Amino acid sequence: MAFCTGCSLLCDDIEVDFEGAKVKRTLNLCRKGRGHYDSLLVDRLAPAVDGSLVDIDEALSSAAEVLEGREKILLFGWGNSTLAAQKAGIELAKKLGSVIDDPSSYSQGLITEKVLKGELPTCTFDDVRNFADVSIFWGDDPSSSHPRHLSRFSYYPRGEKRQRGYEEDREAIVIDVRKSPTAQIAADGFFKISPGGDADFIEALMAALGGKIPKVEDKKRMLNLGTKLRKAKFGAIFTGLGLAHSLGGDLDAFFSLVGKLNELTRFSVIPTLGDYNTRGFNQTLFDEAGHVNSVSFKDGVDHGPEFGIAKYLDSCDAVMVVGSDPTAVLPAPLAKKLAGMPMVAVGTHRTLTTDGADVTVPIGVAGLEVGGTALRTDGVKVEFDAVVDSDYLPDVEVIERIMEAV
Ligand code: SF4
Repeated sequence: MAFCTGCSLLCDDIEVDFEGAKVKRTLNLCRKGRGHYDSLLVDRLAPAVDGSLVDIDEALSSAAEVLEGREKILLFGWGNSTLAAQKAGIELAKKLGSVIDDPSSYSQGLITEKVLKGELPTCTFDDVRNFADVSIFWGDDPSSSHPRHLSRFSYYPRGEKRQRGYEEDREAIVIDVRKSPTAQIAADGFFKISPGGDADFIEALMAALGGKIPKVEDKKRMLNLGTKLRKAKFGAIFTGLGLAHSLGGDLDAFFSLVGKLNELTRFSVIPTLGDYNTRGFNQTLFDEAGHVNSVSFKDGVDHGPEFGIAKYLDSCDAVMVVGSDPTAVLPAPLAKKLAGMPMVAVGTHRTLTTDGADVTVPIGVAGLEVGGTALRTDGVKVEFDAVVDSDYLPDVEVIERIMEAV
């Protein structure tokens, strides 16, 4: 069996035959996973300095030169890195007295941190498959982003207490601004909200759960939802970017709703995180510094939004991006600022970010060309081996060699 690191579900039941690095036959891979496997032969990153190809040793020493002597370095990315590389990255941040951050600082970091602090109830996907009778997808469309989410865990499968599966035993509720593929599966369980309407929806649902008349157009439907959730035996809420972006930095209303649901019955939260090991980075940094992102190691441990990439780009003087493509997702002015910085990019493939870097350092694809460990988005640790031969270095070795050189 092979693993797939195409998303944070880290599917462990993949069968695959290769001819060299070319995929010949697969079983259980979704379309996204197949693209991930096929990408072994497409657009790979090469070691380069100022756009000219060099050997890997020169790329590594040039990477160290970009970072050396800088006062304010940002080490960013890490969601597509193994646990060992993430740990080494944090050690590098300490050695350099730099800031370390990941995309969760502008997405679901607040939710993940609350989960890791034990202030938001959570569970594993196996609990969901075995016990959940209600799955809520909030601003989350795993049918597109994590294609096997519903089939392996959250809707279709039969489980210990859910022998009749989705036909009778399990219900899907989707709260979203558009009728996403997941919403289409939920059919009558789809609640369409207006962009930014999550706070109003939460207020109405809180009223319905409290036996009050909700201030929404379709009061009966909201009251029915309240009754359904009250009667659930075990509910799971999967949060997505839509919820995090809609509520911005103020998720208290959502946390209160989860608290209210747990006064009435049992509901757990699992953030649907994008990169295969986002949860791993958040957990590793949390264990080390008490925060999941936006940490400065300049003077001991400091944390705050000023150390998130969106703000820190204003003041930092060099960036190392590892396994991430912030240029593709940041607002244009920030992406432009990033592209103008002295930058090292470590990654598996060419991206908009690597194309703007002064030094690029290639690494092997985790789970395919190199082994390692990672945390699934529900926090379960998985260990994977390489399944094809490769000359690419593992990410942890690249980070350690840069650390030795600075
Ligand atoms: S759901 Fe994610 S981990 Fe599973 S096969 Fe698809 S891309 Fe890979």
